[in-house]
Amino acid sequence: PSALFADRLNSSGFDLANELELDKLEQALNQAQIANARSLLAVNNEASHLTPHPVRNPADLNQVVAEVAFFAPEHLESVFNAARQSEWQAQSAVQRAQILRKTADLYQQHHGLLMKLAVLEAGKTLPNAIAELREAVDFLRYYAAQLDDLQQRGKLAPPRGTALCISPWNFPLAIFTGQIAAALAAGNAVIAKPAEQTSLIAYAAVNLFYQAGLPRSALQLILGAGDVGAALVKLPFDAIVFTGSTDVAKLIAEQCAQAENEPVLIAETGGQNVLVVDSSALSEQVVADVLSSAFDSAGQRCSALRVLLLQQEVADKLYTMLAQALQELTLGNPALLATDIGPVIDEEAKQNLLAHKAKMRGLARRYIELESADNPEAQAHGHYVAPAIYLLDDLQPLQREVFGPILHIVPYHKAQLAQQLQAINAKGYALTGGCHSRIRKQIDFVERHLKCGNFYVNRNIVGAVVGVQPFGGHGLSGTGPKAGGEFYLQRLTRATDYYSRF
Ligand code: GLU
Repeated sequence: PSALFADRLNSSGFDLANELELDKLEQALNQAQIANARSLLAVNNEASHLTPHPVRNPADLNQVVAEVAFFAPEHLESVFNAARQSEWQAQSAVQRAQILRKTADLYQQHHGLLMKLAVLEAGKTLPNAIAELREAVDFLRYYAAQLDDLQQRGKLAPPRGTALCISPWNFPLAIFTGQIAAALAAGNAVIAKPAEQTSLIAYAAVNLFYQAGLPRSALQLILGAGDVGAALVKLPFDAIVFTGSTDVAKLIAEQCAQAENEPVLIAETGGQNVLVVDSSALSEQVVADVLSSAFDSAGQRCSALRVLLLQQEVADKLYTMLAQALQELTLGNPALLATDIGPVIDEEAKQNLLAHKAKMRGLARRYIELESADNPEAQAHGHYVAPAIYLLDDLQPLQREVFGPILHIVPYHKAQLAQQLQAINAKGYALTGGCHSRIRKQIDFVERHLKCGNFYVNRNIVGAVVGVQPFGGHGLSGTGPKAGGEFYLQRLTRATDYYSRF
């Protein structure tokens, strides 16, 4: 990296252990005013045909956070045309980078509002809401720095044109912002379609881009349900950036393959993520890292740990330690600092997870589910799913990713580890993976045999840091390039295929 990156630092967030800082943060959260949200367009801004929906707090369904108006799919063409005519790509790289940096400053200034929305709309715990804000700010600054760097080295290629960014509810600010920041940095006009569950935070974020000086035609926000996303992908975009389920990514890929202009697609999807723990690993460290990998964000990360492979000799001991540690976790209101695990996003997610748990109870040799979660008081008003650990005999029942606070453990014989890893690989995903061991050649063995995008050694397998651990996978887990890495922005320019300037 050039000297331009030398002063680039990841944002520092807040120290929740510092009471003064905590007081200030609580004040900022209390003072933040949440606005109703609607699409933000360059034309026909007072769009008709809007359907209003109340947004309910997933932790307490009695609480209506605000209202969101969904856009009707029939009016998308004029929005697309406005993007196509945007002057954005004519703005200099320096101006584009400045607007992204100004947006980062505004995100930090409005941290109370953005964090409050992450908690109330997406069910994030406070530490997760801080991480969310930090990652979003990091993406803005990282792609701005990269833009400067490419420009100064004479390596900045023209943009692709018009980009569609479809983002998920699980990182409703970080991934939403990362996709948009990269596409805008590259010079593309953007239409952003966030997950319907997290429209309010997307609306707040886009208003900060505008406040930073971004022209409306450069970034338009379309709020709506899946029908709107399905209609958007049929329009002749030059690039589509998608994070979400593997099934939807496949549909989009088919659509792209049929489109005349063959848009470039960046997809980041799910994983069947594995951590291998051998008998030399440090048990206490394993427990801490497994808990955070499997249950942080209520397991609603595509990087989250789904399958823990424990060497048979230590399987019983570690299962017992993990089972005891699980009982120490607190499931509850994510706005409270004491909470470790908040709600899952919605009723559909909850019902799918409960069905999976019922099935696993029948199959598991041993299992444990958080007991205090049986407290009806805590569960009655929100989408709560008690975290659980199922000890299985083999990998057979684990065909698909299960997106929630559920960990599966499968013991392995040392001599059969390669076959076990092959069986995992055969499921087709390749996102995160890891190994806990104090034996170098054992770690190398796992790294060689396990297909994944990000491999973590003797640590947890979640929480990739922008610019430090570029994030993404391959196979059913996505197309690459990795988010927060050096090729992502470039993929959204014409540098990576037919254009070169020498
Ligand atoms: N980048 C996140 C992590 O490393 C996961 C992103 C996702 O869930 O889509 O934990």
